[in-house]
Amino acid sequence: MKKTMIQAINKQINEELFSSYLYLAMSAQFEDISLPGFANWMRVQAQEEISHAMIFFNYLVERGARVELAAIEKPEKEWKSPINMFEAAYKHECYISECINKLMDLAVKDRDYATQNMLQFFIEEQVEEEASADDIVQKLKLMGDAQGAMFMLDREMGQRVFNPPTKGE
Ligand code: MG
Repeated sequence: MKKTMIQAINKQINEELFSSYLYLAMSAQFEDISLPGFANWMRVQAQEEISHAMIFFNYLVERGARVELAAIEKPEKEWKSPINMFEAAYKHECYISECINKLMDLAVKDRDYATQNMLQFFIEEQVEEEASADDIVQKLKLMGDAQGAMFMLDREMGQRVFNPPTKGE
């Protein structure tokens, strides 16, 4: 593998771990404002991000490249409202999609077909990630101040369980 690609994938490991940290911070705030279902959803999301980091980690190992871990940035501590958190999550996922697209650009430029193949999972995954965050933003907007609806949605969000991706094993 080319050195620039190894560096770029190492950077993506850090982006995914930061994503996990960000959603864990959001989970902590949801616990704090007594929305345990939302907190659960964010905790599952944080686990999913660690699994994304591990796909990149395992890929580098498999290709005989060196994994290098960098410091993880401190996430924000406080958001104004649940809507605010999901808007921030949506914005963050759009940023991650951009990162994945840039990795793909590099893999195409290098004619690195193995990396292109590995990245395909993330191209698909990001469509889902953006859609699921945006879906909750829309639901929260529709609900407005309806407490009953919020309670129901919190219960629904509490049902989410972590399913490890089958990719990269
Ligand atoms: Mg991710």
